[in-house]
Amino acid sequence: MKIAVPKEIKNHEYRVALTPTGVRELVERGHQVIVQTGAGDGSGFADSAFEAAGASLESDVEALWSAAELILKVKEPQREEVARLSSGQTLFTYLHLAAEESLTKGLMASGATCIAYETITDAQGGLPLLAPMSRVAGRMAVQAGAHSLEKAQGGSGVLLPGVPGVAPAKVTVIGGGVVGENAARMALGLGAEVTVLDRSLPRLEVLDHRYQGRLRTVYSTADSLEEAIRESDLIIGAVLVPGAAAPKLITRAQLADMKPGSVLVDVAIDQGGCFETSKATTHAEPTYVVDGVVHYCVANMPGAVARTSTQALTNATLPFIIALADKGWKQALADDPHFLPGLNVHDGKITYRAVAQAFGLDS
Ligand code: NAD
Repeated sequence: MKIAVPKEIKNHEYRVALTPTGVRELVERGHQVIVQTGAGDGSGFADSAFEAAGASLESDVEALWSAAELILKVKEPQREEVARLSSGQTLFTYLHLAAEESLTKGLMASGATCIAYETITDAQGGLPLLAPMSRVAGRMAVQAGAHSLEKAQGGSGVLLPGVPGVAPAKVTVIGGGVVGENAARMALGLGAEVTVLDRSLPRLEVLDHRYQGRLRTVYSTADSLEEAIRESDLIIGAVLVPGAAAPKLITRAQLADMKPGSVLVDVAIDQGGCFETSKATTHAEPTYVVDGVVHYCVANMPGAVARTSTQALTNATLPFIIALADKGWKQALADDPHFLPGLNVHDGKITYRAVAQAFGLDS
């Protein structure tokens, strides 16, 4: 199959949909991979590395898109990319269509088959192609929080692990899912005193078992949140209510109860944020201060570590890409009940219920 990997054009997107390692796997199975010149620059993969893996390079974007049967991307197609799609082609990427009506209509009009990373499921009820980016964001949240606690960033000047004779910082993670567990793991690794709040007792049980008493697990209530607000040096917001905006768990008034210079990292900002005072920021200016509390609210955290994120993404997508390339989309989806929910748009129609519902088209 002819597979194209365009250079991402969304603002500040440095990832690429396939590593040279991924290219080699496909080429060795007899597929042809065409990579746009410079596509890997942002994540540290040179054109020569793609060539060495067996890809051919193409600098003409129109030629790249029109030659492909399967197009691999990271972010949802931008307007000019939608215009290049045609029926008979398969697009495999993050789509997040429920919030993007004009993109959805554009994809329907293209006639292409559009498969979304984020709606593919696994046998445990998880979302295996979202999880790698959640792991990255969770791990980064602690780095970002530790940096924000420094005095020059407006923070309280507390070092997460403390030093012998000085107590470590108190870190609270709200939401103990994929982001939350990865954040907790990093904070523990740095020697902080870590508490995870969650509304799911089974999840707290898993964490308690896994971390063997090193991690405090606390059921999330108004009382436990108030305690966290009063005592924490760093609070990481990592909640998710599927299909809904994030609940606001800390109000502006409650910032007055926090220690001056303490830090809020709102990883749930891509779902609207879980603190009342959160507003999305960028890597160029990641933090701002409200009532003496530093806020870090970057909506696309994995973009800052594009090399790690690209490798993590390819690891997760590659088995699905191989299935698409070897069998064609129809057979690949028919053979795998967890791959099937990835199909969002086909032949002018929305094929994923939540997206159809979002636009009142689910009759
Ligand atoms: P997840 O489903 O694995 O975990 C969410 C957890 O939140 C669950 O354990 C759930 O029980 C818990 N929860 C829900 N409501 C709660 C409440 N009121 N109090 C306490 N806990 C509550 O989700 P995830 O993959 O860990 O993602 C978490 C958030 O991070 C999502 O909003 C996701 O979109 C976001 N995210 C952001 C970035 C970024 O770059 N900013 C990157 C990846 C993920």
